[in-house]
Amino acid sequence: MSMQSMGEVIDNMDWPGEEPVEESKSTPVAEQCANCGTLVNFVGKQWRRPCPQCGLSITLSERYERPRETTECYACYDRGIIIYQAQVDGEIYDHAARCICRKGTSHPAKGIPAIDQVKNAPEYHVIVARNKARCEAR
Ligand SMILES: [Zn+2]
Ligand SMILES: [Zn+2]
Repeated sequence: MSMQSMGEVIDNMDWPGEEPVEESKSTPVAEQCANCGTLVNFVGKQWRRPCPQCGLSITLSERYERPRETTECYACYDRGIIIYQAQVDGEIYDHAARCICRKGTSHPAKGIPAIDQVKNAPEYHVIVARNKARCEAR
């Protein structure tokens, strides 16, 4: 799968992390679109959404990578999908892969390869170790 089409897969996916709940139940987080300057509100547990003005996909990785006391899997934060990066020609790109945990194997998004099947991803235990270290550093 080419870089371009992988990006489309990621952006067209039914993201498990996009859970906009009622505004009253959460404090929205505003992030400025780096492309057009529009302030984009993230509500609930939402961590990725397109800019309503220009369509740029905006990700707040700290919201995605937020462990809870009940977090079982530190690779996907119990969302079933792992976001990992790979560098191509000096640029780092986001990729998505299905986790190998219980949540990942039962995730409804079809066509997303498992993390142990994609060639450009770190190994599962490396991702877990990195994420745990990141969470402890916060
Ligand atoms: Zn924009
Ligand atoms: Zn997992």
